Amino acid sequence: MADPILSIRDLHTYFFADEGVVRAVDGTSFDLYAGQTLGIVGESGCGKSVTARSILRIVDRPGRIVSGEILLRRADGSVTDMVKLPADGREARAIRGGEIGLVFQEPMSSLSAFHTIGNQLIEAVRLHAPLSKKQARARAIELLAMVGIPRPEQRVDAYSFELSGGLRQRVMVALALAGEPRVLIADEPTTALDVTTQAQILELIRSLQRDRDLAVILITHDMGVIAEMADDVVVMYLGKEVEKGPVDAIFHAPLHPYTRALLRSIPNVLAEPREKLATIAGSIPHPFARPRGCPFHPRCTEAIQGLCDVAFPETFDVGAQQAAACHLLNKPAA
Ligand code: SF4
Repeated sequence: MADPILSIRDLHTYFFADEGVVRAVDGTSFDLYAGQTLGIVGESGCGKSVTARSILRIVDRPGRIVSGEILLRRADGSVTDMVKLPADGREARAIRGGEIGLVFQEPMSSLSAFHTIGNQLIEAVRLHAPLSKKQARARAIELLAMVGIPRPEQRVDAYSFELSGGLRQRVMVALALAGEPRVLIADEPTTALDVTTQAQILELIRSLQRDRDLAVILITHDMGVIAEMADDVVVMYLGKEVEKGPVDAIFHAPLHPYTRALLRSIPNVLAEPREKLATIAGSIPHPFARPRGCPFHPRCTEAIQGLCDVAFPETFDVGAQQAAACHLLNKPAA
């Protein structure tokens, strides 16, 4: 296998508030390869988006990366540790929107309402390539066509509020592609969209990935989206990665009770008409009141008293590619 384009090693990103420390990302590691999609899944507040923002070095204060490595393999084969770059320095800014593109969840708040989408695209294009305004406008139209915006020569002069939600999200994808990225991070890219538009945006990301050999990190709370899009999956809970592995293994033989609970909550078209959708009992604990032992134990139907509420579980490898952090996998202790 080729070298990973991005390797996250034992990443810790904490928020230092007056009330205490929130360990938003607490020891995540994974590899991302060209042409592959890595899905990061979990409920809101589990650290998915902070992981993405850490990679891009755009963690808001009072948060900061405390330790770990974010190793980006550059086009020339050299490796840059993003953690060592000043977040607002020239190199980090060039990588953001350049080698790494980002699609946010809510295009309405990410796109400016005061500038045409063309002007926003022209600015993004010129940030990463020495083009004249005329050349950048031609490139902006090309990008709009690439993401399937009809009549791009006219739409380039439209404002974001003149477009539908689906078209706005396509503009976001065009903006993310403006710097010719090799890595695309899509943070809940379809959450605000209806089901049909959601399928179209996912198909757009997939076809762009095929054409450009893009490495994609797809952040979602939706296991259905993961099933459709991901090659590999990282399941996160309270800042910890609790399970990771290839998508087939995660769906067919999930190791961690939290992964199993997420899978049970996928709507099933074969279910009886009035059958209730399974939900995960309880809610994510308050970040300042992280439970002792396994962070999932207050909600886990398989918790072992005296063990799960006391000791944090190690991560156990199962097979060559799958791993999970659960005491049930430690047979003698369980
Ligand atoms: Fe459940 Fe215990 Fe496994 Fe945590 S370690 S997921 S509480 S069984």
